[in-house]
Amino acid sequence: MQNEVGDLRPRITQDVVYEMTGRTFGTTQIELTGRDDLAKPLALTLERDFPAVWAMPSNPNQASINRVKVEYDSRAGWKAATRTILMSNGDTSNPRTMSTAIHELTHVAESNRAGIKHAEFVFWHQRAGGEKVKSFFALEGFGPKNEFSVGDKWANKYSGRVYSYDKKPARNDFFEILSTGMEGLYYGSKSSGATLIDSEHAAFTLAMVMFG
Ligand SMILES: [Zn+2]
Repeated sequence: MQNEVGDLRPRITQDVVYEMTGRTFGTTQIELTGRDDLAKPLALTLERDFPAVWAMPSNPNQASINRVKVEYDSRAGWKAATRTILMSNGDTSNPRTMSTAIHELTHVAESNRAGIKHAEFVFWHQRAGGEKVKSFFALEGFGPKNEFSVGDKWANKYSGRVYSYDKKPARNDFFEILSTGMEGLYYGSKSSGATLIDSEHAAFTLAMVMFG
């Protein structure tokens, strides 16, 4: 059911893409191991688009955590406990694959740099206000019943996903704000989730690119 919040916060229908593709941020320190074929889009993203500072742990005693394994799964993801990125294909000519690569690498950045999660925590709460966490199914009438988000004004409700199931997120939880923000900035509607982002979400993401 469309709610009143949705009426007050119109759905975003246009891309906010800042033509950042091709910008070089510097040499990365992340080392990819495992499936070379699936690592290609990740390697290209690290070389071309990924903010170098995000590859560096904010705690200098954790320098050894920069190794990332790459494995296959039908659904892409980041397994923080084993520092493994899951990719479903390695086609660097496909913008959806490249968008997924920058998404998953942004989760690596969340693991490397505690400040990123803290900023996302604040932004999530600032935007959500008093809204309740609900399942994607409850929010949209389709989608999983065991994954949760808030409606907010996210163009893609996945951006508001929470990992403290059925309750508001904690300060050191993972988020999908920056990962989908990067997809939106770099690939817009060409991204894996057709990730349109609003200008506030874009501004947050740009600030993190500059200072995160
Ligand atoms: Zn994600």
